[in-house]
Amino acid sequence: MLTDTHGRTATDLRVSLTDRCNLRCTYCMPAEGLRWLPKPELLTDDEIVRMVSIAVTELGVTEVRFTGGEPLLRPGLVGIVERCAALGPRPRLSLTTNGIGLARTAKALRTAGLDRVNVSLDTLDPEVFRTLTRRDRHHDVLAGLAAARAAGLTPVKVNTVLMRGVNDGEAAGLLGLCLQEGYEQRFIEQMPLDAQHGWQRTDMVTAAEILERLAARFTLTPETPAERGSAPAERWLVDGGPGRVGVIASVTRPFCRTCDRTRLTADGQVRDCLFAREESDLRAVLRAGATDREIADRWRTAMRGKKAGSGLDDPAFLQPQRPMSAIGG
Ligand code: SAM
Ligand code: SF4
Repeated sequence: MLTDTHGRTATDLRVSLTDRCNLRCTYCMPAEGLRWLPKPELLTDDEIVRMVSIAVTELGVTEVRFTGGEPLLRPGLVGIVERCAALGPRPRLSLTTNGIGLARTAKALRTAGLDRVNVSLDTLDPEVFRTLTRRDRHHDVLAGLAAARAAGLTPVKVNTVLMRGVNDGEAAGLLGLCLQEGYEQRFIEQMPLDAQHGWQRTDMVTAAEILERLAARFTLTPETPAERGSAPAERWLVDGGPGRVGVIASVTRPFCRTCDRTRLTADGQVRDCLFAREESDLRAVLRAGATDREIADRWRTAMRGKKAGSGLDDPAFLQPQRPMSAIGG
């Protein structure tokens, strides 16, 4: 098991399949993009499947989420999903994507064994989408969402980051769309993980504000802590259900005490936290010919010293060197 000295056990693995992306969301990347990881540094498809297999068979991981960068840009994605779905015990498999290209691949992903998807959508307005992501692809995301639902990649969750003066007036509208279409809305507080280091706490739209805006249009009934478990999202039933909304308040209501995450970057570094400033180079160990057991031991050691909290409230907090897109959000 991947236990740490604060009594937590990581059972949820986030695997970044690439640091590249076809959007340039302002809260994530600069307009010109980033210096992408060189291909030889990326784990190959075989190496990714081996790492997931070690996590599942030796380390007690039960959930695997593929992310990025944009994971749909990874050419071998369907094959990776298929091979991970064949592992025993079979992990639950999900994907976080910006939805571009999902209309084409949703069916193949479902057939390969993907259980569900989170699709990021920050606005109902194509013009706002263009400003926020610096690309004119709003329609592709809506098509991707519909295809995911049709393929049975359910529950389809919609991830939204609200930014003041850009899309913060859209909370209720986005939730309305999700209720109408049968998607589950998740609002995520903006975190200091952008490559440009432009995040300001004072600018951030807080969970409290989001809930206030939603409450003006909907009746929200909170879930009990037992229903939440280790999930990062606090959830509410909307207008008596069955629709729900979640808020991931990483900044103002951190959930580090129950965190069950371990992360693998596209270049094979294990991270114990989104905000960690240290990583463990498992790619070097893997490529040096280590056995599964040796790799598992290194992974356990990497997770053992996980800090109690993200440190966001510490005046000495320093943003990690890697931006969100290279960590795997
Ligand atoms: N490209 C895919 C996507 O956008 O869904 C997967 C990777 S993206 C880094 C994963 C999630 O992180 C997205 O929902 C995105 O909105 C969110 N995200 C990116 N930068 C963020 C930030 N600075 N604060 C909060 N969430 C962020
Ligand atoms: Fe790309 Fe996702 Fe970052 Fe947007 S949030 S730039 S879609 S990686």
